[in-house]
Amino acid sequence: MKSPNGTITSIDGILGLSPIDRRELIKVTDRFPLKVPAEYLSLINWNDPDDPIRRYVIPSFDELEVDGKLDPSDEASNRISVDGRKIYGTQHKYGSTLLILVSEICAGFCRPCFRKRFFLTGMQPEVIKDEDIPKVLEYTREHTEIEDVLLTGGDALMAPISRLDAIMRGLGDIEHVGVVRFGTRVPVYNPLYILNNPELIGKLEEWSNKKQIYIMTHYVHPKEIRPSSLEVVDLFNDFGMKVFSQAPMIRGVNDDKDVLHELFKKLYFNGITAHYIFVCRPAKGNSAYAVPVEEGYNIFEQAQDPTSGIGKHARYVMSHRTGKIQVLGVQDGLVFMKYHREKTPEEKIMVFKSNPSAMWFDHYKGREIILPYRTLASMVNLKAG
Ligand code: SF4
Repeated sequence: MKSPNGTITSIDGILGLSPIDRRELIKVTDRFPLKVPAEYLSLINWNDPDDPIRRYVIPSFDELEVDGKLDPSDEASNRISVDGRKIYGTQHKYGSTLLILVSEICAGFCRPCFRKRFFLTGMQPEVIKDEDIPKVLEYTREHTEIEDVLLTGGDALMAPISRLDAIMRGLGDIEHVGVVRFGTRVPVYNPLYILNNPELIGKLEEWSNKKQIYIMTHYVHPKEIRPSSLEVVDLFNDFGMKVFSQAPMIRGVNDDKDVLHELFKKLYFNGITAHYIFVCRPAKGNSAYAVPVEEGYNIFEQAQDPTSGIGKHARYVMSHRTGKIQVLGVQDGLVFMKYHREKTPEEKIMVFKSNPSAMWFDHYKGREIILPYRTLASMVNLKAG
């Protein structure tokens, strides 16, 4: 099926697949739906069975493996509470950042999505209800530690404009909120959705006059950085917005130092800051897409190596339920990690024995070498003394 705006939502519409594949893959799309804008689909080279874009958006039987959790980062447990009631579609995980899930819709579906629970049939959507927006604004006003608000989903730019406008108008008057971030892959999946939408363009300009806006988009492969997508980036830049890219490392898509280097280089050349490379979250159906933590770190390091300092801003991180954990280094059989943002501040720096098969932070449990960093610090002090 192809929608009027040229987005394909049925496997029958993927003409590059053989008729047998189209018939069989219904078993996957019955569970995890398909959605690909036609222009994005044209990036696929159908003569290459290992095409990285194909791997990222075309369903695969790999997804049917029974493993992982629907909510691997335990996001649903962080909803804010107003008047004793938990507000759907909100998370106040770290002091300075409030997250609002504004849309359950995406411009396309990434097969290794970490919020697949949003798209599963029978699941209740977790997005904010319009009638709760005043309560969330009130909460934000009262919590003066909130400096930035992240609007995400789904895809923030696929939310109804009226909902975004209500939030942005409210935030505009809250002085301690300096930044609003939009989590969106529309500039990658469907740049025309923005370029052909004068109402949205007008609002983006208006909103960027109220607050500093950061567009947190997600390019997984250099092929995605094409003229139509860069046109949207130029538009954002014209409005004074900052454009960042954060993407997972995915087996068969960007788990190669040359591909990742090319991605970093193209982002850098086009004025887009590479922010995070994520370890693929252990969400249901994701195991075949994940790269082990240490292997991924080595690819990441080699990809950044030939780039100049300005192009080396990205961090390699895990969005764990306890906080954002950066992998700092892998050397001499040891893995060094640091809480980049933590829910409850405990030890910031951690050292573990290497575990080459570890796919997630939890797989390092019991392999701590010097867990209390302060112990290490006092040892160093003792020596120095
Ligand atoms: S754009 Fe984000 S939320 Fe939407 S499918 Fe991709 S990873 Fe999931």
